[in-house]
Amino acid sequence: MAHDRIRISGAREHNLADIAVEIPKDRLTVVTGVSGSGKSSLVFDTVAAESQRQLNETFTTFARNRLPRYGQPDVDTIENLAPAIIVDQRRLRGDARSTVGTITDIYSLMRLLWSRAGRPRIGSSNLFSFNDPQGMCPRCAGLGAVRTVDVDGLVDRSRSLNEGAIRFPTFHVGGWMWRTYADSGLFDNDKPLADYTPAEWEAFLHGAAATVHLPSRGGPVPTAYEGLLPRFERIWLPKDPETLKPKAREAFDRVVTETACPDCEGTRLSAAALSSRIDGRTIAEGAAMEAGELAAAVRGMDVGDAAPVAEALATQLEHMVGIGLGYLTLDRPTSTLSGGESQRVKTVRHLGSSLTGMLYILDEPSVGLHPHDVSRLTRLLCRLRDKGNTVLVVEHDPDVIAVADHVVDMGPGAGEAGGRVVYEGDAAGLAAAPTATGRALRDRPVPKAAPRTPAGWARIRGADRHNLRAVDVDIPTGVLTAVTGVAGSGKSTLVHGYLPLVCPGTTVIDQRGIRVSRRSSLATYTGILDVIRRLFARENGVSTSLFTPNGEGACPACEGLGVVYTDLAFMDPIVSTCEVCGGTRFTDDVLRYRLDGRTVADVLDLSVRRALDAFPRSGAVNSVLVRLDEVGLGYLALGQTLNTLSGGERQRLKLADELGGDGGVYVFDEPTTGLHMSDVADLLALLDRLVDGGSTVVVVEHDLDVVSRADWIVDLGPGPGRHGGGVVFQGTPADLLAEPASETARHMRRAVR
Ligand code: ADP
Ligand code: ADP
Ligand code: ZN
Ligand code: ZN
Repeated sequence: MAHDRIRISGAREHNLADIAVEIPKDRLTVVTGVSGSGKSSLVFDTVAAESQRQLNETFTTFARNRLPRYGQPDVDTIENLAPAIIVDQRRLRGDARSTVGTITDIYSLMRLLWSRAGRPRIGSSNLFSFNDPQGMCPRCAGLGAVRTVDVDGLVDRSRSLNEGAIRFPTFHVGGWMWRTYADSGLFDNDKPLADYTPAEWEAFLHGAAATVHLPSRGGPVPTAYEGLLPRFERIWLPKDPETLKPKAREAFDRVVTETACPDCEGTRLSAAALSSRIDGRTIAEGAAMEAGELAAAVRGMDVGDAAPVAEALATQLEHMVGIGLGYLTLDRPTSTLSGGESQRVKTVRHLGSSLTGMLYILDEPSVGLHPHDVSRLTRLLCRLRDKGNTVLVVEHDPDVIAVADHVVDMGPGAGEAGGRVVYEGDAAGLAAAPTATGRALRDRPVPKAAPRTPAGWARIRGADRHNLRAVDVDIPTGVLTAVTGVAGSGKSTLVHGYLPLVCPGTTVIDQRGIRVSRRSSLATYTGILDVIRRLFARENGVSTSLFTPNGEGACPACEGLGVVYTDLAFMDPIVSTCEVCGGTRFTDDVLRYRLDGRTVADVLDLSVRRALDAFPRSGAVNSVLVRLDEVGLGYLALGQTLNTLSGGERQRLKLADELGGDGGVYVFDEPTTGLHMSDVADLLALLDRLVDGGSTVVVVEHDLDVVSRADWIVDLGPGPGRHGGGVVFQGTPADLLAEPASETARHMRRAVR
């Protein structure tokens, strides 16, 4: 039996049709196929899940009881499996202390270098850590920022205490907090604050030596009086705004401003750490340089016997450059990174590792990458393979498919119409195969011959945030505009930071946003569950609440979730099917009731497309289903929870919500994410429909099909970070082809050939 391949047989997870697949070891395999064909079900829910599960089995019973239990995927056998490392696109959450430098561990190397070669030497590398009490700036505790209270946001001086002068929810008139001031006897409660004497103002704001007797059940109790400002600062400044309820958050944002810490000037570090320099640079100055510049600087440093540390540091920084992240600075908070950037940052961590014999699994690593950056990505994937690893990638990008040693093409359709392997072999063979992917690879983008005429122009002047170099850009209205440029060139900054200013009422449809709880499903989010519930109740003469997954008919074991989550302190929670209801979410009693022969669980299991046939009578349900199908989500099951949707699927769900509205300004962030090349045509048809309905549509996009079919192109660059931030080209697709300076034009010329 050959050990040179991972052999999967009898795979039946989700829509997989009892298939057998082989993945060659130590090779780069790309799994392709239309959206919903079963790529993730095979790669993540079968191969990766089984690897994690088997890994856990190897531990002693004692350890195993403390480890998460992975459900057994629905597959007969997987032979020769290797330990899997999954590099996904989940955003790096990270708190305020997490930066690109800390998350990649590159900052540890910097600390080591500065502790060995810095002048003067201040001692251990911990003294350079802003997350260690020894190294952090004492004033801001290593956060780099301090919070101050804007007094005029907190109080309205034109009002008296009785008129609600304190503008903060917890200090409302009549409340306990408010009474500390109103019942203090220090102020005239009907006098506007603006008329207070200086002594009254001082006492109100900063405090006075006074005792207030506040009423309580057992009679008035003496309470020390505390000025509004110290009290507010004590209670509110330490709070994390992310955890506040919307109303409190809004008030908090109005009152509390965050500015760079004056002691460390935002560098987060102690004065001692900032005194140590190599070649005149502090470690903070190094962390503020773009990774690419820092790599070159480190290579040029004379660090004596710390040379091996410098070498390791430079190598890791060069990996960042290699994966198209050379424009990032190491001090960048991870919370500001996009999903694609997060995935690439995680990949950098693995490129530095010396593990071999691993199975690396990546989910659409080309997301957010310009064709120019994709060529670097493919070199990195090959490097990971050449270190002796098996690399398995789910991907749609033709340039990534082209470097694959082996391709598994899933299809032929989505959902029940997919789940089979329609092509297996090398990349050249795929380009000739009669599959949707093969056909799409043979189709070349065609630049739009007759672009629409703009209705008008939205003029952006002097845009200079982040890396933008005081650019002037005119965005045409009433047409489809593509904003292009390499990663880090400034597209998001321009589109998200400036377009809403010149086009009020802009709707941003990006990959975040939809609030997903474990309970929200396609059916609840779109409101069709309400209709379905009523149909079931009427048909069976019982209460509608029986058919709500969180109502009285819910399975008590999983509370109607169908799955059981095991929350873990530092990892993603583990999900397993509820053993009591078998994933149906309802009690056996509820499952006795039927509508057209189906139980409510059967209905929630229907795909959107099947439900279209099942509910011909309800107009409301039908129009929602039609829109979902139009945005390419026809393969999703009605009961599928939103937390199982990919970023691209969430974005299209939002798009379905917007269809039907007209005359707006819509901004899309890489709408082709997660879409197979053959699905892109459908997406373009939708965007065209929005434009034909009178809307202005602006897409940040790398997909050359979309770019060539836009009416207008704004190309930013030429490079990333401070090498970008300019406008390289503005005009029609046909004119872009003739543009010599643009990277986008170069790739477009190659693609249309
Ligand atoms: P791809 O990765 O090719 O887009 P998927 O493997 O995600 O496709 O989906 C294949 C089919 O399985 C689809 O019909 C999808 O709706 C279904 N599916 C995927 N994940 C789940 C899930 N967690 N629960 C139920 N059905 C799912
Ligand atoms: P693109 O969308 O073309 O990938 P961005 O607009 O995201 O580019 O980034 C342009 C430049 O601005 C980059 O150098 C990036 O590092 C920087 N930048 C983007 N967002 C932030 C932020 N929140 N804080 C600091 N710098 C940022
Ligand atoms: Zn500080
Ligand atoms: Zn259950």
